[in-house]
Amino acid sequence: MCRHLAYLGPPIPLADLLFTPAHGLARQSWAPRDMRGGGTINADGFGVAWFTGKEQTPIRYRRSLPLWTDAALPALAAATRSGAVLAAVRSATVGMPVTETAAAPFAEGPWLFSHNGRIAGWPDSVTGLAAALPVRDLVTLDAPTDSALLWALVRARLRAGEKPDTALGGVVAAVAAAAPGSRLNLLFTDGESIAATTCGHALSYRSAGDAGVTVASEALDDDPGWTPVPDHSMLVATPTAVTVAALEGVPT
Ligand code: GLN
Repeated sequence: MCRHLAYLGPPIPLADLLFTPAHGLARQSWAPRDMRGGGTINADGFGVAWFTGKEQTPIRYRRSLPLWTDAALPALAAATRSGAVLAAVRSATVGMPVTETAAAPFAEGPWLFSHNGRIAGWPDSVTGLAAALPVRDLVTLDAPTDSALLWALVRARLRAGEKPDTALGGVVAAVAAAAPGSRLNLLFTDGESIAATTCGHALSYRSAGDAGVTVASEALDDDPGWTPVPDHSMLVATPTAVTVAALEGVPT
């Protein structure tokens, strides 16, 4: 069920997240270790977005193909350095289209977002929540998928001035209430901090002081510095500090 990661810290090659580690995102695309909740491999597209340090808006590269089939990506990832990255590989939920725009990261300005999971009872369970969004947001969804709607819901709260963790927590609580049994691991960065929820899927982080912080569905290597995040948590991270708290308003 999709794998995602975010990194903040000193600039590193994208390859250090995707290809170099023994269990980097490339390996997680074809040999994930923890696909609780369904799926086997993550072959229905991928995306990487990275801040350049010069621009407020990150560069985003998404494809609808398996990550390992992109022949240009290894060289691109080796040559591109960034201090703020969000990347994901996708396993499309049955019934949802495999198309480039359905792959995370979803983006607006400096905001980057990914969802690992599924909305139970899609789409009927959440039409009420969708109806509260501006019509313009609905007719311009990235794709007709649960993840794209979750991004529209989060984005509406961010535009209204909510902090990222408040926005993510509010959306998880609302969707969990409307669609019980949903799996809602959300991941967000604006290049300054990371916010992430666990609700039905795995997540770990490694905070290495001057070496920055990485948050990922699965540890990228066997470094004992990786810490699993309990289910039903809210994680907030900056390059030098990580907090993990219980997710409010979500039945366990
Ligand atoms: N339901 C989402 C999609 O189809 C995410 C799927 C997943 O986490 N595997 O895009």
